[in-house]
Amino acid sequence: MERARVVLKRGKAGPLWHGHPWVFSGAIERTDGPEEPGALADVCDIEGHLIGRGFLNPRSQIRVRMLTARDEPLDPERPAAVAEAVPALLARRIAQAARLRRRIGLPAPETSAFRLVNSEGDGLSGLVIDLYDRVAAVQFGALAMKRNEEAIYDALLALPEEVRPAAIAEVAAGGFAKLEGFSSAARVVRGEAAMPVPCREAGVELRVDVLAGQKTGMFLDQRDNRVRLGSYAGGARVLDLYSYAGGFALQALRQGAGSALCVDASARALAQAQNNARASGLSGLEVLEADAFRYLETAAPHGFEVVVVDPPKFARAQKDLPSAMKGYRRLNALALQAVAPGGLLATCSCSQLVDQEGFERMVASAAQDAGRSVTVLLSASQGPDHPLPPAFPEGRYLKFLLLGVGR
Ligand code: SAH
Repeated sequence: MERARVVLKRGKAGPLWHGHPWVFSGAIERTDGPEEPGALADVCDIEGHLIGRGFLNPRSQIRVRMLTARDEPLDPERPAAVAEAVPALLARRIAQAARLRRRIGLPAPETSAFRLVNSEGDGLSGLVIDLYDRVAAVQFGALAMKRNEEAIYDALLALPEEVRPAAIAEVAAGGFAKLEGFSSAARVVRGEAAMPVPCREAGVELRVDVLAGQKTGMFLDQRDNRVRLGSYAGGARVLDLYSYAGGFALQALRQGAGSALCVDASARALAQAQNNARASGLSGLEVLEADAFRYLETAAPHGFEVVVVDPPKFARAQKDLPSAMKGYRRLNALALQAVAPGGLLATCSCSQLVDQEGFERMVASAAQDAGRSVTVLLSASQGPDHPLPPAFPEGRYLKFLLLGVGR
C-alpha cells in the first residue's frame, strides 16, 4: 500500500529531530499520498530529509505519533516490508520496554505492580501497559494502537517469563478515545482474571480492580515517592489527603507510622484502602469520605506530623491556570496549618501546565498565607518505570515536593 508522506513547515522540524514524538497539525506544510487513519506515514522536513515514521491520524491535533527515528527499519529481519512490519516493531518496542524494567529491578519480590510501557517514553506513543502481578492492564490513547491491539496482546504473551502476563485486560481509554476516533471498553481480552487482582508495592499487599479503578487501577507514578515518604513517617500521625486506595498511608504504616487518616471523595477508593490494609495486616488506618478542602477547614491545627496532599489535576487547559494556582495555594495553606511544628508536608501536582518553578512559588505563597516557615527537603517526579524522551516537556507532569514545616 502506498504510504503518506508528511512534509513539515520550515522551522518546525527541530523538536522532531531531537526526539519530540508528536507532529502537531499546525506544523504540517502538506501531506502527499493517502491520509489513512491509523496508517504509517513518513515524516520529512521541508528539504525532504526523512525524520522518521509514525502513525497518522487525520482527525487528531496530534497528526502523527512518531514510532521510529530516521531510517530505523521497522523490521530488521525484513527491511523492505513496511505496512506488514508494524506488529514486529510493536513487539520489539514492548520487549525493549520489558528489558528496561528488568534492568531497574522490576518486578521484585516486594513489588509486582509497575508500568511496563509508558507511551512516548518507550517509543510507543498512545500505549500504556501496567503490570499488576500476572495481569496486564492495557490503555489505548491512540487510534493506531487500538487498531493494532491483537499484535500488542500477542507481543505481551511472548515476553520472558518474569514479565509475561497470564491475563490481559483492556481498560477504558477515557477522553482520548473520542479525540482520536475509536471506542474502548473495560474487559478481559486474553486469559482469565478475577477482580480485584492481588499484587504488591514495596511490601504492601494491594487488591487492584483494573476494570473499575481510576487510571489503570492505581497511580503507579507515585510509588517511589510513597516509599520515600513512608520512610520518614516513623511514629507519626499521618494525614493522607486525596488518598485514593491509601497508597501513601499504607506505605507509612508499613514503615512504622503510628496512625494514618485517609481522606478522599470516593467511598469506593476508601473501601479499597481498607481492603488493602487488611490484606497487608496493617492496623491504624482510618478513612473519611469528604472533600479535602472542607475537611481541612475544620481539621485541628497542628494535628499531624506528616501530611500528604495529592489532588487530581486542577488545570486542564491554559485558561484554567490562574484559578488552578489559586486552588493549589489555598489547599496548601490549609494543609500547612494541619502540620505540627517540625513535621513534614508532601505536596504534589499532576497538572502538566504547572511547571516546577511555578509550583515552588505557589508553595512559598501558601506558606506565607499560613504564617508557617517551610524548607524543601526533596523534589521528585514520576518513578523510573515512567521514562520520558528528554525533548518532550508535555510528558513531565508530576511534581512532588517534600517540605519541612517549622514554626
Ligand atoms: N495519592 C493517591 C492518588 C490520588 S489521585 C495514591 O497515591 O494512590 C486523586 C484522588 O483524589 C482520587 O482518589 C479522587 O477520588 C480524589 N478526589 C477528587 N476530588 C476530591 C475532593 N474534592 N476531595 C477529596 N478527594 C478528591
